[in-house]
Amino acid sequence: MEVAIIGAGIGGLTLALYLKRQGIIPVIYESATAIEPAGAGIMLAYNAMQVFEDLGLAESIIAAGNKIKGFEVSDQKERLIMATSLDHSHIKKGIYNVAIHRADLQRILAAAVGDEHILLSRRLKSIEKGSKIKLLFEDDHQATCDLLFGADGIKSVVRTHLAPQSTLRDTGQVCWRGICTTILPDLKSDIAIEQWGLGQRFGYVLLNPGQIYWFAVSNEKYVVDGKLPERLQSFNPVVQQLVTATPATKIIYSKIADLSPLPYWYQANICLIGDAAHATTPNMGQGGCQAIEDAYTIGKLLEQGYALKDTFPLLQQLRRKRVKKIVQQSRLLGHISQLENKYAAAFRNFALRLTAPSAGKKQLNFIINLDYI
Ligand SMILES: Cc1cc2nc3c(=O)[nH]c(=O)nc-3n(C[C@H](O)[C@H](O)[C@H](O)COP(=O)(O)OP(=O)(O)OC[C@H]3O[C@@H](n4cnc5c(N)ncnc54)[C@H](O)[C@@H]3O)c2cc1C
Repeated sequence: MEVAIIGAGIGGLTLALYLKRQGIIPVIYESATAIEPAGAGIMLAYNAMQVFEDLGLAESIIAAGNKIKGFEVSDQKERLIMATSLDHSHIKKGIYNVAIHRADLQRILAAAVGDEHILLSRRLKSIEKGSKIKLLFEDDHQATCDLLFGADGIKSVVRTHLAPQSTLRDTGQVCWRGICTTILPDLKSDIAIEQWGLGQRFGYVLLNPGQIYWFAVSNEKYVVDGKLPERLQSFNPVVQQLVTATPATKIIYSKIADLSPLPYWYQANICLIGDAAHATTPNMGQGGCQAIEDAYTIGKLLEQGYALKDTFPLLQQLRRKRVKKIVQQSRLLGHISQLENKYAAAFRNFALRLTAPSAGKKQLNFIINLDYI
């Protein structure tokens, strides 16, 4: 049986590791010329790190990244709104939330999969469905497979063949991301920091002893030609320092969008995973973690003896409700954190100071729990 995965991102590579574990060797087709994602960081929450522990990769990911034990949000005057503990080491020894450079994560995953299984510079153009699936690439290369996974991200080509009616939902917000090597004297090395202003916010976290990952988000109406608005740059001196310390060409600018829920994630011998199936906004830092959970679920079903094709409907059955909730909550958090009206923002901050400790705990318990499989 020939199995193909389109996309050597977080989801595609993690899936390949679970398939390999069962003796299924997939071919992974990746459009990029190298496994080198753009310079940004990623937070791997406890749910994702449990998966990597299962794969025997947690130690190397922790070694390349930074253990994060808490998350703090303050208002525009730097008054604390909420402080959440992310330290779950009491639940399972050796498992932490980890902030890591995306390139380091991809390198660790790709090395574990084996470079020989990843075909670079192969951008899928279209597919011809049938009992044998035909893959047509932009460079006119062709290939076939019996089972196909679309792990090709938010703008998935595979999805356009499976669910042509699917739509991306613009949030009216944009973001900038970068990594720099500046020194922040007050930096708390194991805390992820966010500051919420009016219609804008920014955050940063240490990735490793030399690198800080930062992001800044603005409501789109303040943005001209993709440039970081002056009001955001002067929001806090730290923003200015982090932006100045990052080469302008390395700053990634993107619109924030998610995918409206699909009626199904699979059809016959084709299955979508990760952002291709359920892209979410980045507000909860869960998009990558959910791609990793898709791969984990397929892996666990294979371990239980299911045939690979039979895992497609089960993946959807086990995961759809959970993912839908995360997509909704993340969208809502995006609206709440970007309020523009100062009275609405003040009320939000007041309400969060009262409710965040218990609500945050409940939400974290939901996210970190993989018992559904
Ligand atoms: C600003 C921002 C911050 C985020 N922060 C976090 C975070 O802290 N934690 C978290 O868990 N998630 C975060 N996310 C979400 C996370 O980046 C995605 O959910 C995750 O990358 C999805 O993984 P994936 O494997 O499904 O897709 P991707 O990582 O997008 O991988 C898709 C792969 O497919 C390849 N590809 C695409 N099209 C083709 C084609 N036609 N042919 C061949 N190959 C193709 C791409 O080159 C890529 O390698 C963030 C997202 C954004 C935008």
